Parts: sequence; structure tokens; C-alpha cells
Amino acid sequence: MSRVYNFSAGPSMLPVPVLKKAAAEMLDYQGSGQSVAEMSHRSKEFEKIIQDAEALFRELMNIPDNYKVLFLQGGASTQFAAIPLNFMNGSGKADFILTGQWAKKAFSEAKKYGKAREVASSADKTFSYIPKTKKEDFDSEADYTYICLNNTIYGTIFHELPDTGDVPLIADISSCFLSEPLDISKFAMVYGGAQKNLGPAGLTICIIREDLLGKARDITPTMLDYQIMAENGSLYNTPPCYAIYMCKLNLEWIKELGGLEAMKEKNEKKAKVLYDFLDSSKMFKGTVVPEDRSLMNVPFVTGDDELDKKFVKAATEAGFVNLKGHRSVGGMRASIYNAMPLEGVEKLVAFMKAFEENNA
Ligand SMILES: *Cc1c(COP(=O)(O)O)cnc(C)c1O
Repeated sequence: MSRVYNFSAGPSMLPVPVLKKAAAEMLDYQGSGQSVAEMSHRSKEFEKIIQDAEALFRELMNIPDNYKVLFLQGGASTQFAAIPLNFMNGSGKADFILTGQWAKKAFSEAKKYGKAREVASSADKTFSYIPKTKKEDFDSEADYTYICLNNTIYGTIFHELPDTGDVPLIADISSCFLSEPLDISKFAMVYGGAQKNLGPAGLTICIIREDLLGKARDITPTMLDYQIMAENGSLYNTPPCYAIYMCKLNLEWIKELGGLEAMKEKNEKKAKVLYDFLDSSKMFKGTVVPEDRSLMNVPFVTGDDELDKKFVKAATEAGFVNLKGHRSVGGMRASIYNAMPLEGVEKLVAFMKAFEENNA
């Protein structure tokens, strides 16, 4: 068996020990005589899996007790509608910082339900930076301010959070979930799909401060009402059981490696190898301003579309797959989530160096 280095933005690589554990437990989960994929979501085995998963989230992310952890479906994209339905219920206004496609999609969706306002945007430079904001930029009457913390497509991250005063801050953290420590108390809600950093697709985790719940609009579909999901311990209907189980295995893997401080150290080391090379290369260039670079998604270009294509093709043949950039930016993008080993990045850089020499 040979495994490739998968640089996909998502669904993405999973840690080999996690895959092995899932494989070993596939036919008989801990003496139950069945797979988690076959199990009732009301069974005592599954109850323990979902409770353990929640406890691990709380422990690893240091989630305060007054926050709910919900295991939902529909992906981050479904929350783009659920968030305004649940929270745009006071002034009916919300502020958005537009840092890329995902923030824009959330913004368009919110516009259907109330007065969504663009506070700042980095669209002028293809979202290659994080726009600076001041407290005065935000509407103090807004029901919330919305950001996409790590911008998967463009490779930027908010290293500093906007100061929104007392206005609740909501963040899409799909592509930086559990990649480094995050102070949850600064947010009213963070959420993301599992398929970038936490497990297979099908699971969305929402972490919500309790005082925000219970004010959803009457028209909110039951399945999108966070209060109902919270009251039912994410078991109002059948949850994505197997994805929750795989996510739990991922959380155990992170805990074994030393938690989020250790994850951050590992991720910084990996990102440095790649960024240092990009900064020294004559052929490859990073597209993001250095101060806003993401640890997870690293877009880069040669400046020549044909050469980009040639590189992606050669890399794929050498076992470095999914390096093609998002269709809206072109070029290349290496997503180096938690599960990507340092060795994968080192080998990619060695390959890029050789490619540069051979194509100079
Ligand atoms: C991938 C991604 C999404 C979309 O997630 P789905 O689960 O496919 O809806 C949204 N936001 C960010 C930041 C992402 O990386």
C-alpha cells in the first residue's frame, strides 16, 4: 500500500493512527459485535461516543461551561442561514468583514433575513490580506458581527480579532479548527465543518454561548434552531454518527500529541518550512501579505499559468496531490492541516526546489 501526500483544502488528510483505529474497530466496535456505522444513535455505546467527543472538545479547546457544543449536519454552508435565523432577531442588523468567498456567501445568505452590512473587505486585492478595522467601524446596535477566521481559499487568517465592543462576534473556523489554541470566550459562536481538520465530511460543530439561544425567529426550521438542537443534546434526529465517532478519534489523537499548544508548534514548524522556501524561491511566490498568512492554507504561484499547470501535473505524478489552487485564484494551494506530517511538507519543498532547478 502506498499513500499520497494529500494537500486538499477539504475533505483532507486524516491521521494514519486514526484511520487504523477506525479500521480495527470497523467490524466490532469494542465488543458490541457491530460497527459504529450500524449502531443506533440511542444506544449506550453511541451515547458514550458523543459524550466523550463533547468532553474532548471542551478539554482541548478550553470551552467555558456557559457554551453549548452541538454536533450538526448541513456543513458550514447551512449555518450561513441558521445564524441569521437564530441571531438576527434584535435590531435585525449584522456586520460582516468580507475576507473571501466563504464570508461573502455567509453575507449573501444573511441579507435574505435582515440588514447585513459590509464593514470592510479585502476584495480590492483578491483577498490577499485581512482588512484593519476600528471599534467605531462597527454598529453597536448590530445583533452580531461575522467573520471567517481562516480563509481557506486565499490563505489568510485574523491573527488579531476585530474589536466589536459588546457586539457578539461569530466566526467560521472551518479551516483552522483545533489547529492552535483559541480563546472561545472572545466569541459568541464559532463553528465549522469537520472535513478540514477534524474528520470526514458530514459533521458540523457549533460552539455557542448559551445566552444567545432561545431567540430564533418563528419561521426557523426546527432542524436549524440551535436551541432545539441544544435541548436534545444534538440527538433531536439521527446525527452523523460515524462522522462523530471519527471526529472523536481525531480529538484523542490531538490529545495524545499534547493538545493544541503542541498542535500549534507542529503547524508553525510545517508552515515555516513552506513559507521560508516561498520567500527564497525565484520561481514560486506566496500570494498573501506576510503578516496575515494562514498556518493551514498556503496559496502560491509561479506567475505563469502554463508553468503552474506543469508543476501541478508533475507534483501529482510524484504523489503530492490536490495542489491546484481554487478556481477563483488559480495557481497552487497547499493545505497543511493537522494531519499533514512535517515530512510531507519537507518532501514537497524538496520537490519544488528540484522543479525550480529543472525548469529555470
Ligand atoms: C470549506 C469551508 C466552508 C464550506 O463548508 P461546507 O461544509 O462545504 O458547507 C465554509 N467556510 C470555510 C472557511 C471553509 O473552509
